[in-house]
Amino acid sequence: MRAALLQAHGLDGLTVAQVDEPAPGAGEVRIRVETVGVNQLDLNVIAGRGPGAAAKLPRVLGIDPAGTIVAVGPGVDADRIGRRVVVKPNIPCGRCADCRSGREARCPAQSVVGVHRDGGAGETVVVPDAVAFDRDGLDAATATATVHSLPIVLNVFDAADVRPGDRLLVTGAGGTLGRAAVEYGAHLGADVTAASRHPLADAPGGVRALTIGDEADLTGRLAADERFDAVVDVSGSARLLGQAVAALDWGGRAAFCAASVDARLEIDARAFYLGRRSLAGVASADLAHVRRALDLVRSGAVHPRIGARYPLDDVRRAYREFPTTTPGKVIIDVR
Ligand SMILES: [Zn+2]
Repeated sequence: MRAALLQAHGLDGLTVAQVDEPAPGAGEVRIRVETVGVNQLDLNVIAGRGPGAAAKLPRVLGIDPAGTIVAVGPGVDADRIGRRVVVKPNIPCGRCADCRSGREARCPAQSVVGVHRDGGAGETVVVPDAVAFDRDGLDAATATATVHSLPIVLNVFDAADVRPGDRLLVTGAGGTLGRAAVEYGAHLGADVTAASRHPLADAPGGVRALTIGDEADLTGRLAADERFDAVVDVSGSARLLGQAVAALDWGGRAAFCAASVDARLEIDARAFYLGRRSLAGVASADLAHVRRALDLVRSGAVHPRIGARYPLDDVRRAYREFPTTTPGKVIIDVR
């Protein structure tokens, strides 16, 4: 038996309970968990909405645990025991054409830790070894703060084909994804404009911070002839994305990875195609993006911010306060 954060129905259904400890199956490992993040997806599971509605309750929450491998299933090298790892939430099927070509983010048959199977907000978790990434040189909280957000940001940068010297607009720059995007864009050598609702206090040197206010009036804050080569939108606001796409230059590329605030996107179709613009939506990340993300953090190029931390016993407070906590990853210390 193991203690784990079990979700029945609604926030009041969250309990830390003793649950069965499954044996790792073929290709799987059991991890003794140190940390796991609090994520919007957990709140969707709790509320039974959006992608969270796929969860069969009761479910152990926790999509991005970090810890140490303590047991392996058939087909996994016993040398993996003792490895310090962090778990990528999206599990690709491993068999489809996209998976076989290393484009796991496009796999149509992905499942998600903590949604389709029990997650990592517990003393132990069992996951496929393929999504347990070595985190040597990174403490568990930093690895948890990296593994879900930064790989998606890297995938958005790839989708927008951001290159050194590009005039890059990052919208939604104030959130966890946005701060990672600004930092990575600066690291890449792009000329970064970071648009956020509230003033960005700690933007890297050389980054132009653009405060657009609660009305999210991006167009009104740009010069009439101002244009960008690339847009990375992590705001979740279709209204903001539409304004950003309108500011693309000839051949400009935009990519986005969230639509949680509003979903209806309006673009000027004529200006879009005559201007040879492109727009891509990105969800999840390839396995290679996770390795790149962990390397970027190890090298000091990107610094994931850790906000509040809570012990597992205090987890209901973590979820209650999650919508209002300061920017940065919210971490549950399991042990
Ligand atoms: Zn697949």
